[in-house]
Amino acid sequence: MAITKVWIEEGCIVCNACEAECPDVFHVTDSSCNVNGAVREDGVDSENRDEMSPLSGSNGTDLEAAIEAAAASCPVEVIKFDKA
Ligand code: SF4
Repeated sequence: MAITKVWIEEGCIVCNACEAECPDVFHVTDSSCNVNGAVREDGVDSENRDEMSPLSGSNGTDLEAAIEAAAASCPVEVIKFDKA
């Protein structure tokens, strides 16, 4: 199993927990949280809610545990991901 894509639903409270767990993927902004372009096929820094870009290369495998830990740490459960 690997994580194929990660995105942030509406409602982020900018608590920083996800970035603390997995800074390779998550970057908190003034108003929400981005999925870093460096780990995405489209290279865009955004919530990835509209783009739904897949993770690039082996990131979905290499960062699987860290992404799951970050999602579990989110107090408002807005970090979503698909696995395949
Ligand atoms: S853990 Fe959740 S609420 Fe906190 S910054 Fe990340 S996405 Fe936002």
